[in-house]
Amino acid sequence: MNMDVLTSLSKRRGFVFQSSEIYGGTGSCWDYGPLGVELKNNIKRVWWRDFVQARADMVGIDASILMHSTVWKASGHLDHFTDPMVDCRECKHRFRADHVNDLPWTHYCPATKGNRFTIPPGEGCGHCGQRRTLCPECGKGELTAPRQFNLMFKTFMGPVEEEAAVTYLRPETAQAMFVNFDNVLQSMRLKLPFGVAQAGRSFRNEITPGNFIFRTREFEQMEIEYFVNPHDRVEGRPADEYWHDRWIADCMAWFQRYGLRDENLRLREHDKDELAHYAKRTVDIEYKFPIGWSELMGIANRTDFDLKQHAKWSGKSLTYFDEERKEHVVPYVVEPAAGVDRALLAFMADAYREEEVRGEKRVVLRFHPELAPLKVAVLPLLKKRDDIVRVAQTIRADLARRWRVVYDDTAAIGRLYRRQDEIGTPYCVTVDVQTVGDAERGEAGDQKVTIRERDSMEQIRVPVAELEAVFREFLDGAAWEAIARRYPPARS
Ligand SMILES: [Zn+2]
Ligand SMILES: [Zn+2]
Repeated sequence: MNMDVLTSLSKRRGFVFQSSEIYGGTGSCWDYGPLGVELKNNIKRVWWRDFVQARADMVGIDASILMHSTVWKASGHLDHFTDPMVDCRECKHRFRADHVNDLPWTHYCPATKGNRFTIPPGEGCGHCGQRRTLCPECGKGELTAPRQFNLMFKTFMGPVEEEAAVTYLRPETAQAMFVNFDNVLQSMRLKLPFGVAQAGRSFRNEITPGNFIFRTREFEQMEIEYFVNPHDRVEGRPADEYWHDRWIADCMAWFQRYGLRDENLRLREHDKDELAHYAKRTVDIEYKFPIGWSELMGIANRTDFDLKQHAKWSGKSLTYFDEERKEHVVPYVVEPAAGVDRALLAFMADAYREEEVRGEKRVVLRFHPELAPLKVAVLPLLKKRDDIVRVAQTIRADLARRWRVVYDDTAAIGRLYRRQDEIGTPYCVTVDVQTVGDAERGEAGDQKVTIRERDSMEQIRVPVAELEAVFREFLDGAAWEAIARRYPPARS
């Protein structure tokens, strides 16, 4: 499957639209549509539930995007969060200096009366033997010497545009956890080890963003800073190393639990020379995206670098008092950092299937029920029968107090099922003549409806009065077979 399939499904079914599309779009910015926002919210909610709500050693914060500009001096972003860039003096095109030789280049060949050629990356001209020296884009302009270009979005706080008012849109959520370390510690009376989580937007002025929502200039992160006492030992190992491994395993298990297949996941250990200078060890969880193996999330051991930096620049003590040893320590921190948009892309890519059903192609998104944007679709078998429609709409309204549930009568039932399959709705409820009976002929309805499961396409007949209880079991993780055996199968 390639990215175009996902991009077009996303647009057609309301998951993701290009930002400002009617104006021709904004570079690498995307808008989540009605189904996309549900999926994204579900990912964040489940992450928060599993990693914050369910754990006694975790708390959360929600910090502002604009922070004191010294934060970025202390964190190193002002000085080091840069890419070396070169500009073409003719066409003004800007390139990353370290990528310029990886591009095909335009060449006006002196040996062939100036004919224009496009030459593959890194190769010379087959006619005159020249190598690229000029702009690969226009083939005419000279490139400037490399200049460091900061990836942070700069803006101004207040009504004046002067240096004193400069601030930045945060390039990561992590720093807010460090600068609030003491606030969180004191207000919540925490003991090491503990973690602080945050989900929120970050901004990076990437020069070469792309690949749909894989790399964007505005994105959402789910980050955890897990503080440990570096003098502690757990199971005979330094606490930071022990917890680092625990977090790698927990994060991997989390992605597997919500549907990513084992064969599409792997761990990648960062080499010594790609580690940030303060990092003791970093491991990426990689996913086999349609563009190939790429980072899904990173889990870094950042040591005590960040707290020490902020203590230095702020003049405030950011330490923890170890009651047992009667000493102040600067905690080490393990940072599991995931991108929401990237996780969403992985969940969509992994859920996507093209299947053949009775000689017809069916596209289905096999989302984990907890992630699926819609949980249940209520469908009337006959939309001209008022009594059927009334019952269907009542069911929708009742279930919708708990879950995202839709009513749809805009097509025949077979087509309605296919539409729900394509957006990953795990369950459909069908109201038919049997449910309501036939008043004119004096036949009473059985007050039962059909539930159809997305993946197996099996159907069971369930009393309307039991629907909410049944869906509570399903959506709490019960397997289809476990519930289905309690009810008679329905004819399909
Ligand atoms: Zn140029
Ligand atoms: Zn040539």
